[in-house]
Amino acid sequence: MPIVTYIRRWFAKRKPFPADWQQILEKDVPVWSRLPARYHEPFRNRIKVFMDEKLFEGCNGLQLTERHKIVIAAYACIPILEEPSEYYRDLQVILLYPDDYMATIHEEDEAGVITSGTEARKGESWDTGSVVLSWSDIEDNLYRKPGKQNLILHEFAHQLDQHYGLTAGVSDTGEIYQDNEWNRTLAAGYRDLNQKIRRNRKTVLDRYGAVNPAEFFSVSTEVFIENPALLKSEYPSLYNALSDFYRLNPVEWGR
Ligand SMILES: [Zn+2]
Repeated sequence: MPIVTYIRRWFAKRKPFPADWQQILEKDVPVWSRLPARYHEPFRNRIKVFMDEKLFEGCNGLQLTERHKIVIAAYACIPILEEPSEYYRDLQVILLYPDDYMATIHEEDEAGVITSGTEARKGESWDTGSVVLSWSDIEDNLYRKPGKQNLILHEFAHQLDQHYGLTAGVSDTGEIYQDNEWNRTLAAGYRDLNQKIRRNRKTVLDRYGAVNPAEFFSVSTEVFIENPALLKSEYPSLYNALSDFYRLNPVEWGR
């Protein structure tokens, strides 16, 4: 880490955690009440640095408030609670839309056929420095229909995947490019989910995780944090692999 970054973070962490941020944590960040007390201080420190380093931009007329920013910063800091140095190094800006937004698509398939048009999206993660989120979907996940889904965790898991190449070792059909325990666990879980979806079986993971290994990792991360006991009972090896990677054991947290 460059020395200037180190010093800047040191100063950011030294500042007191603002009282209105604390209120937002208690009122609007459900995971706060589940966090064991030993994480409170490190978690608040992560949020201070994240708020200091990342830019937020309201899009399509959304007027950004501290509440928007702290809710996003808080959930973004959960996966990096035990990873103090990185803070999503490639990420510079979080673009927040009030609702699903229309994205331009321009794709060329293997036969060279180009499709272009627009499609509605809830969120995106780019390795070029941005994450895009829709606030109404965040509100759905956190307050209106709380459960296993969490758009913020989903997109920030993509950031980590894009940075570390976590799912690069497994193909879209579930084959392993390089044999190691992580890839084997990921591939086995991914193939199992695809099979369950094909057979119309119930599963704790959202069916969107069957699209490709990157979506599988993000969908699994959502459940790992939001409903860890269910993930552990249905996919114990996957739970353990995620627990090793994040260095977190959310089944031990409060409910
Ligand atoms: Zn995704």
